[in-house]
Amino acid sequence: MKYWLDDDDRIVEVDENWLPSAIDNGAPELNPAHVCGRPLDSFISDTTTRLLWRSLVRRARLGEAAMVIIRSDAPDRRRLVLLRLSRDGGRVLVRSDTITDELRAPVALLESGRSRAGDAVQICSWCAKVLLPSKRWVEIEVAVEELGLRNRLQSPPVKHCVCESCVVKNAPAMQAASIQSPGIRTRAFARV
Ligand SMILES: [Zn+2]
Repeated sequence: MKYWLDDDDRIVEVDENWLPSAIDNGAPELNPAHVCGRPLDSFISDTTTRLLWRSLVRRARLGEAAMVIIRSDAPDRRRLVLLRLSRDGGRVLVRSDTITDELRAPVALLESGRSRAGDAVQICSWCAKVLLPSKRWVEIEVAVEELGLRNRLQSPPVKHCVCESCVVKNAPAMQAASIQSPGIRTRAFARV
């Protein structure tokens, strides 16, 4: 799947694989007409994840192609995705290719449109691990068991963030981005 960003980090074009991918991920409302013209930031709820993305896009715009591997799970699939960002004329091309895609029992915590209640659960938007009350980051299937979420009628709200391990891995790029983006506070690093 491919999409392109303009100088203001707005999505200006998506390829024919965008919609099937959105449907597959349980977000059919993200059709091309709804997405094109919107800033990339508007799809990202968490400050640290925005900072990471801005850093990657800025590097690509300067001609330094960037390549990262992230988790991009659907409720019933564990997926590893390779993201490649590169300059493409006056735009930035983001190319997303699935590396691994494994079926699993559906994880209700990730289902959109689900009724939510209780304290929010933090999920790393980079590696998909979940923060337990004991402050350990664990795989989401482990968290479902440890938090007793299986067979619950309601799921807790999900709050996206970036875990300590992914912050450490990406810290140099994020610090570079914060210098370029004074609107982003570096306090975000300390918070996660
Ligand atoms: Zn992580």
